[in-house]
Amino acid sequence: MIKAIRLLLVTSLLCAPLAWSSELAESIQQDYDDYLGPLWDHFHQNPELSLVEFETSARMAAELRAAGFDVTEGVGGTGVVAMLENGNGPLVMMRADMDGLPVEEKSGFANASKVTMEDPLTGTTVPVMHACGHDVHITSLVGTARQMVARKDEWGGTLMLLVQPAEERGMGARAMRKDALWERFGLPDYALALHVSSENVAGQINVIEGSPYAGVDSVDIIIHGVGAHGASPHRGKDPIVLGSQIVLALQTLVARELPPRSPGVVTVGSFHSGTKHNIISDRAVLQLTVRNTSLETREVLLSGIKRIAENMGRAAGLPEDKLPEVTVSDENSPPTINTAQLARRLKIAWSEEIGDDRVIDNPTKTMVAEDFPFFTADPEIPTVYWGVGGTPKEHFEREAAGGEAVPSHHSPLFRIQPEPSVTAGVESTVVALLELMGDQ
Ligand SMILES: [Zn+2]
Ligand SMILES: [Zn+2]
Repeated sequence: MIKAIRLLLVTSLLCAPLAWSSELAESIQQDYDDYLGPLWDHFHQNPELSLVEFETSARMAAELRAAGFDVTEGVGGTGVVAMLENGNGPLVMMRADMDGLPVEEKSGFANASKVTMEDPLTGTTVPVMHACGHDVHITSLVGTARQMVARKDEWGGTLMLLVQPAEERGMGARAMRKDALWERFGLPDYALALHVSSENVAGQINVIEGSPYAGVDSVDIIIHGVGAHGASPHRGKDPIVLGSQIVLALQTLVARELPPRSPGVVTVGSFHSGTKHNIISDRAVLQLTVRNTSLETREVLLSGIKRIAENMGRAAGLPEDKLPEVTVSDENSPPTINTAQLARRLKIAWSEEIGDDRVIDNPTKTMVAEDFPFFTADPEIPTVYWGVGGTPKEHFEREAAGGEAVPSHHSPLFRIQPEPSVTAGVESTVVALLELMGDQ
């Protein structure tokens, strides 16, 4: 359907694509006004923390079932898998994450969350907020489901919609895979995901070739010193001095060892040692977050941290069996890397169907990570992870004029404009799915 219409554009001056696009846009807008808007309102007012998304999961299962999908609940915890078989064609997966964050909402929205709940990992009661916009993702997924059912004669194949728990803990995608996701439901030919973004103008579709999200490792360094009186430093090996030297030496990894066009981050987020003014401690512990956008960078950084920590220990005169211990946590995530050819293909489809002016190529500025690659990296599945802008243009203009800054994700002030974020989420997903599964 899309291709046929595109041909019309090339061969004539007819505005068929516009007509098609506006039919889709109108249909989504109507659904937003009648159904998706109130649904977003519900999700926004009722956020749940990672791993305990019970109500959200049940509501999503009910919505997707009502839309006409074959729904399985309890996949990898609270995960939901919704399948729609529709004849021959590829198996395409679209994922939406559903967890909120332990943040007290100060967005000023009339439907701001007042929810508190017990954090399953810490046992403490905390306020909860959709401070990353995952409420937009799940609402969009419902909108997509409803559109794809209504348009069954426009595509062929199998659509797999995933509702993922615990993205904010980096645990949900892995848990769904461990629950035999591909074995039970099939290995997708394509895997898609989107994230609403406060950094782009509401309604814009941001697609990049390369890596929209970084890979992350957590690293612990235990430094063994020799304790002594603070007045007798010559009798000890001070782990605070050694730790400080290691922290500074680690800065050379990004500055001097990575190629300057290959981004990386080595942040020492925690440095604990000692109990009292006049005691030289016998131990210091450093905790690092280490980030990459390629496996080559990951190797340079992780091997470099070990080399620097151990050799700084040798330089300090520590014996071989007391050198600093470097441990890389299993809680890691590979970088999210878009398949270049597929990203180009979808970008063309979005430009033609949604409009050139709404499709942008805004490179990611931070090294925030995602657990989506647990779905796509091994075995490798062609993938595109795109952004949907969520901040009104006037808010950027206000910030540029020295006014209130646009709040970032995870901030209590986080304030995604649900419309057109949700409608753009649905529209970009439906266009992508019809491009991949439409009449070839
Ligand atoms: Zn987040
Ligand atoms: Zn998020």
